[in-house]
Amino acid sequence: MSRFSVAIDGPAGAGKSTVARLVAKRLGITYVDTGAMYRAIAWRALQEKIDLSQEEQIAALAKSTQFTLEDEGIRVNGVWLKEEIRTSEVSQLASMIASMAAVRKVLVQKQQEIAANQGVVMDGRDIGTQVLPNANLKVFLTASIEERARRRYLEMNAKGIRVDREKLIEEIRQRDERDQNRQHAPLRQAPDAILVDTTHLTLNEVVEKILELCRTKVGKTE
Ligand code: C5P
Repeated sequence: MSRFSVAIDGPAGAGKSTVARLVAKRLGITYVDTGAMYRAIAWRALQEKIDLSQEEQIAALAKSTQFTLEDEGIRVNGVWLKEEIRTSEVSQLASMIASMAAVRKVLVQKQQEIAANQGVVMDGRDIGTQVLPNANLKVFLTASIEERARRRYLEMNAKGIRVDREKLIEEIRQRDERDQNRQHAPLRQAPDAILVDTTHLTLNEVVEKILELCRTKVGKTE
């Protein structure tokens, strides 16, 4: 499995990161949360008060940022970023900067470098279509918007963060809309990706299903 690569794409709140992390652990390969990279740049742009109209400046910020992706999360220029990149504000800002071609170019290159020398499970929006077009397995993970909002609601509640359920649905809808309709690398299911609808599946069932799909691919690739 040392060079096995799994691309997991899908809309906001489909459970990609939880599933991807567990699949990577079971396969003994690295999990790469590309959404956290977009979030980290959004967070840094906020800290440095860079205006959203300054696309080149945000791309330069992305270029000069060092990412370390580990199981427990993301380190940016040596600093752990956790809950601060999971706020509604950073979520919306991340999807705005993710529509900038110059920023995507920098982050896609960094993601490809990470995947060049090791096996990875990488999740995002464009992994199967742009970042790892030759991934051994491509999965498109989805669930109904109500179910995605319900899961996000429970997740936030568990962390003690109070959110309005209707507002959450609206935020997810806005992000889906922006991610699907942007000009550069919009969220799309790759033609060779396998669709997994998780609306009625437990986390464990989804993980087992993807591991089973991996098994069908291993023989063909190693
Ligand atoms: O996956 P997550 O919700 O953390 O991603 C935050 C935002 O980053 C997404 O709404 C999307 O706009 C953007 N993103 C992207 N391409 C990726 C990963 C995330 O455009 N590969």
